[in-house]
Formats: sequence, structure tokens, C-alpha cells
Amino acid sequence: MKRIGVFTSGGDAPGMNAAIRAVVRTGTAQGLEVVGIRRGYQGMIDGDFIELGPRDVANTLQRGGTVLLTARSKEFMTPEGRAKAAQNLRDAGIGGVVCIGGDGSYRGALKLVEEHHIPIVGAPGTIDNDLYGTDYTIGFDTAVNTALDAIDRIRDTAASHERVFFIEVMGRHAGFIALEVGIAGGAEVIVLPEDPTSAHACAQVIEASASKGKKSSIVVVAEGGYEGGAEALARDVKLCSGIEGRVTVLGHIQRGGSPTAIDRVLASRLGAACVDALLAGASGVAIGEVNDEIRLTPFKEAVEKRKDINRRKYELAKTLAL
Ligand code: ATP
Repeated sequence: MKRIGVFTSGGDAPGMNAAIRAVVRTGTAQGLEVVGIRRGYQGMIDGDFIELGPRDVANTLQRGGTVLLTARSKEFMTPEGRAKAAQNLRDAGIGGVVCIGGDGSYRGALKLVEEHHIPIVGAPGTIDNDLYGTDYTIGFDTAVNTALDAIDRIRDTAASHERVFFIEVMGRHAGFIALEVGIAGGAEVIVLPEDPTSAHACAQVIEASASKGKKSSIVVVAEGGYEGGAEALARDVKLCSGIEGRVTVLGHIQRGGSPTAIDRVLASRLGAACVDALLAGASGVAIGEVNDEIRLTPFKEAVEKRKDINRRKYELAKTLAL
């Protein structure tokens, strides 16, 4: 293998640039040429490739987003689109590819491996932390800290005005962000897709908190924790209990920003491990970090197995909200 490609795909996540940088620099150090594929799978289909040397990735480590840009490609979902992408890779002499993205990106990579036998390994780049085979995904820690900063600010207002706040964080199918910021932000209630609650149950907890002398409450709601999100939960809580709450939807501010040290180090390590894996002949595997060790998991397993939230942490959150 003389030339490898690297691309980012799906939602951007802080730390993706650190992963690209690590691929370029460890690849170069091991005598490889590295090609950046812009705009994810769409760029693979369009042949949007750029040569990347160590200096091209200078000054990117601390930047959020992805310098290679990212996209969601409908064309790649078709066999014709994938055939075009595979041909472009072959024409460019690319003998192996590093895919940095979430589960959809891994599904696409798996198809490219199965249908066109192109060696691909993946690094988990998504703020959601919802990928099996790694304790944490690149971008998760930054997203948690960004959401936490917002919650701390809202807590000031909630406490000063003695109000209830419903704060929606990202997580349509997984509550990792909600659980982490819920604990770190001292939320009275955390609503997760893994354990959906009713408005009535939520109101009961808020009322119990008030009866114990709490003058304000923070309810952290994962997008997928309640049908309609925080907005709907606040409305239903008011309907069933009369409790009035303010709603803040954090939205896309959670996706951007300079990556934390934890994300930079994780991304650097995983990016380098992707190059090592390709050189060792690996393909169709996701590279993760489990208990501080690099772990290879087949794409199929990484996308099909569900990573559960830490139930003990969830119970702890409830105890600490007393
Ligand atoms: P995030 O977790 O941030 O949403 P993701 O990688 O899951 O990231 P998706 O939009 O689901 O983001 O996937 C990225 C791209 O991967 C899609 O736009 C599509 O081109 C490709 N892809 C997703 N699923 C498949 C599939 N089943 N077959 C082929 N390609 C796919």
C-alpha cells in the first residue's frame, strides 16, 4: 500500500481535524502518500481529492468542524454511486481508506468493502457516542462540555428566578450526552431515550424536589427522550400539574467549537491506529478505544450492536438529585 485516502462523513464533530492530522502525519511517517477526500462519500463519487502533506494539516488540531468538509450523499446509497466512488479510488491509486464518521458512514464503508473489496477502516467521529466498540467517540467530550457550559448559565437564571427549566440536548436514539451533562450539571430530572418517562412522572419528581426545599429545577431532555422533545414535555408537564417551565433547545451549538484535550488525544490516537490497522492488512473494521486500549470491531458489529448507557451512572444521577 503506497497511497491512502481519508474522509469525514455524516455530522461534523469536534476532533475530526485532529484525527485527519493524525492520519496524515502517521501515514507520512510510515512512507505513505495521503489523499484527502472532500465532502465525504459525495466527494468520493465526484473525485474531489486533494494531496495532504504534514504541513497541510498544520494549525487544524484546535479547530472544530472538519477541514475536509462533510456531506450526506444520497447517490452513495445506490450501487451505481458506490461503483463510481470505488472506480475513482482505484484511478487515484488509493489502496486503503480511513473513514471518520458515525454509524451511517460505517454502513456505507461496509458496503464499499463488501461490493468493491476496497480496504477501509473507521474512526468513530460523532458527538452522540452511540457507536459500539469504543468507550467514547470523537467529539462527545466536547459536546458534553459545551452543553454543560450552557446548563451552568441557565442554572444561574433558574436559581435566581426560582424557575423550572427544560433543556433539550442532542441524542435522538441515545442518551449519552443527556446523562453525562445531567450528572455534571446537577439536573433534577434526566429524560433519556433508553428510559422514556411520562410527563406525570416528571412532574412528580419536580414536585418532590420542591417539597424538599428546592426552589428551582433543571430537567435535561435528550431529543429522543420524549415525543416532541423538551417543548412537548414542558407543555405536558404544565397540563398535568400546572408547573410552568421555560424551555431551551441547545441544538447545533453542541456540534461546533474547539475540541477538548480529551477529544484531541482520542482523535490523534484513533487516527494513528487507523493507519497502523490499514498497514497491518485490516479492512472492514472500526477502530475504537476500550479501557485505554485500541480495539478493532467489525463494522457489522459496530453498527448492529447497541451500546447501552451506564445504568449505574443513571441510578447515581437520580440519587444525587435528592
Ligand atoms: P452522525 O452520527 O453524525 O449522523 P453518520 O455517519 O451516522 O453521522 P449519516 O448521514 O447516517 O451520518 O451517514 C453518512 C453517509 O453515509 C450518508 O449520507 C450516506 O452517503 C452513507 N450511508 C449511510 N447509510 C448507508 C447505507 N446503508 N448504505 C450506503 N451508504 C450509507
